[in-house]
Amino acid sequence: MRLTEDPHRRLNPLTNEWVLVSPHRATRPWQGEVAQLRANTEPAYDANCYLCPGNARAGGARNPAYTSTFVFDNDFAALKPGTAPERLDIEGLGLLVAQGEPGICRVICFSPRHDLTLATMTVEQIEPVVHTWMEQFRALGAIETIKHVQIFENRGAMMGASNPHPHCQIWATASLPVEPRKELAAQHAYLRATHRCLLCDYIEVERRQQERLLLENDGFIALVPFWAVWPFEILVCSRRHMASMNDFKQDDACALSHLLHRVTATYDKVFGVAFPYSMGFHQMPTDSDGHPEWHFHAHFYPPLLRSATVRKFMVGFEMLGTPQRDITAELAAEKLRSLIVL
Ligand SMILES: [Zn+2]
Ligand SMILES: [Zn+2]
Ligand SMILES: [Zn+2]
Repeated sequence: MRLTEDPHRRLNPLTNEWVLVSPHRATRPWQGEVAQLRANTEPAYDANCYLCPGNARAGGARNPAYTSTFVFDNDFAALKPGTAPERLDIEGLGLLVAQGEPGICRVICFSPRHDLTLATMTVEQIEPVVHTWMEQFRALGAIETIKHVQIFENRGAMMGASNPHPHCQIWATASLPVEPRKELAAQHAYLRATHRCLLCDYIEVERRQQERLLLENDGFIALVPFWAVWPFEILVCSRRHMASMNDFKQDDACALSHLLHRVTATYDKVFGVAFPYSMGFHQMPTDSDGHPEWHFHAHFYPPLLRSATVRKFMVGFEMLGTPQRDITAELAAEKLRSLIVL
């Protein structure tokens, strides 16, 4: 089988799910239309932004005149800490099942500046953001009822971000969400079968193969995973085996800041626009277990396919069957590598 020509399925060993790859549909190496990099039109401060320093938020609270990062409980939280974790099984047949989900939702502003992004902030400006993530993960994970802490960023109106001000969210929940649950099972099974870590092994393979590797530094590595679904999907892994940010050593926050800056700045060059994406960290569940199987990583899922305006839709066969892609992970990696920002 020729991976560059023949339709095939690829396995995602982290979730045990498949992706259909149809490389013959994208035989031309590059079909992307690159727009001229538009000047940032956002002001440094926006009087109408509910995240800018000193401004009033919708819930009535007023932001302090913060100068670095700023954390607050989401005024429109999807979860509430006081919810009872009660389970309901209407008629007792396991067909109408519901469970109360206590949780905490927070917002983290990356910077007081309305017009910056991870791609345009300096590494020195990103470092306090990483430290804030570390503090929040530790504090929320230490709460008895919280078993999982999801830190994620939705960037760009295309991803449904309601505000361009650089920020991310944290949803901390009493149950393990769907995606981490699949990854926990797969990593656990791999460890049990091989006595090794799935992602430690995977990183070794990708470093040998080189084809999908994008960049790395002392702490972290970025690559297009073999099983990528989204056109320019990126997986970021710690190079050392660690389960969460709680295991970060002295230089890790700086190394992660560097890597995130380079990944996001490279993204912005693909179509000459601020690249929309959803990104988030997958860290070990915050229960009482040590989780030797879990390897710290982050996923970047950008929706753009061919140009600044042509996005990939997960419809039809993908909705009813299996996700599918045309441009191979190898071609996407080649394109990204050619644009890497130093
Ligand atoms: Zn703002
Ligand atoms: Zn590992
Ligand atoms: Zn993951």
